[in-house]
Amino acid sequence: MPRPVAIMWFRTDLRIDDNPALRAAVESSDEIICAYVFAPEDEGPWAPGDASRRWLARSLSALDAGLRERGSGLVLRSGPTVDALRELSAETGARSVFMGRRYEPLAARHDERVIGALREDGIAVRVFETALLHDPGSLLTGSGTPYKVFTPFFRAAERIGTPGPSGPGPRRIPGPLRLPRSEPIEAVERRARTAVPGLDASWSPGERGAKERLHAFLGSGLGTYAGERDRPDLESTSRFSPHLAFGEIDVRAVLAAAREAAEADERLTRGADAFIRQLYWREFAYHLLHHFPHTAERPLRARFEIFPWSRDDAGLAAWQRAETGYPVIDAGMRELAETGWMHNRVRLLVASFLTKDLLLPWLEGARWFWTSLVDADLADNTLGWQWVAGCGADAAPYFRVFNPVTQGERYDPDGAYVRRWLPELERLPARWVHRPWEAPADTLRAAGVRLGSTYPRPIVDHAEARKRAIALYDALRSGEE
Ligand SMILES: Cc1cc2nc3c(=O)[nH]c(=O)nc-3n(C[C@H](O)[C@H](O)[C@H](O)COP(=O)(O)OP(=O)(O)OC[C@H]3O[C@@H](n4cnc5c(N)ncnc54)[C@H](O)[C@@H]3O)c2cc1C
Repeated sequence: MPRPVAIMWFRTDLRIDDNPALRAAVESSDEIICAYVFAPEDEGPWAPGDASRRWLARSLSALDAGLRERGSGLVLRSGPTVDALRELSAETGARSVFMGRRYEPLAARHDERVIGALREDGIAVRVFETALLHDPGSLLTGSGTPYKVFTPFFRAAERIGTPGPSGPGPRRIPGPLRLPRSEPIEAVERRARTAVPGLDASWSPGERGAKERLHAFLGSGLGTYAGERDRPDLESTSRFSPHLAFGEIDVRAVLAAAREAAEADERLTRGADAFIRQLYWREFAYHLLHHFPHTAERPLRARFEIFPWSRDDAGLAAWQRAETGYPVIDAGMRELAETGWMHNRVRLLVASFLTKDLLLPWLEGARWFWTSLVDADLADNTLGWQWVAGCGADAAPYFRVFNPVTQGERYDPDGAYVRRWLPELERLPARWVHRPWEAPADTLRAAGVRLGSTYPRPIVDHAEARKRAIALYDALRSGEE
């Protein structure tokens, strides 16, 4: 007697290898329906942004191709999720659903409803950990409270140790003779308005692309990672973030690969340690969002509820369009628009510029990142923005207002990053490339730069903006405001 049909419901685990849910589905049934439900309406205010949709469409195509190589294929349905899964089970006679857990608060609550509805229909649901190293609720301080500071969280996580990856995926995935109806994958990005022009040239979405990147990073990036990871002018980091956000590669497999590389060659140990620490920042972000679910929209530190953020539509637009007149900020915003990604150091700088120089609400920045990033991840994005704004866990001290000129000179010393993204400054000598408004007139002329015409003058004076920000933060701190 063949065992009843099972649905493998892919979510933020768009991979075949190291996918415990898929493995269990194949072990339990003789016929698997591999499905993805595109249901932005179920995600509330954090429905996938334009850049994420473009990545998702490519990632689903790659998954479909991988499944077809194994005798199956992907069935894409539109939401609402409950209806889509109910219909698919009714059409195929499926008696069980295998799925990976989502941890974002709204998604987790929504999942409970979906699981409840399926179980009411008599469908068995099995849920697996596919996206993180640890369950975000599992690590607590000695007194049973969530961690709010990274280092003790990291130490506690290290003490427990991380579970290894679950291993290679099934060679064959038995599908039905005819796949059920599937919607065209392009539909996922149909309503994305903003293009990411450099997406296909910069990235290879999907499991294979993720593995190739892992291979390349272990071979050439890990050794220099500790010393160079803050340098946006060098290919100094792994660029795994979109692959991790969509689960095209298992974070446990990434961590294990970094450890193995360091065991095989001890010169890689420093790099591997620094890299693994960053993977734990991602864990920490999920830990915080799990325990403080309101923080996607509101500050973790309650006092910041009354921070007097400005309204400055022109300033916001200049920031979004890479027209602030500060080269490292504008280069970062161009990199974002072109590739859907931005180097971490530059994310810190552009976020500091928006929240401290322009005094605009961090949520405006978080929303812009959300639509523009191919690695948009609610936990990481929330942590990053609140950290910079000073209102989150383990946050930057309120008096830290990154100086876009000296930071640019420190981390992009020859101006190669600025020149790459701002060709209008290409011919400015390194000495002036982070501060063109101070360059002598003949240097500007020789470089073909006309301030206010080919490149903007600074929209704020950083020294004054810094004083203004510190005064407001000071007042908030002492409760005088
Ligand atoms: C304002 C702001 C917003 C951010 N928004 C996002 C986001 O939406 N999605 C996202 O994935 N990351 C976000 N980050 C974190 C970080 O910038 C990116 O994860 C990193 O730049 C990705 O590049 P990489 O994969 O080469 O990183 P690597 O340096 O190679 O690190 C490896 C992995 O560790 C994790 N990681 C690294 N740094 C951090 C960090 N500071 N916080 C949390 N996890 C980290 C990522 O998963 C990353 O892929 C944000 C940071 C800031 C300051």
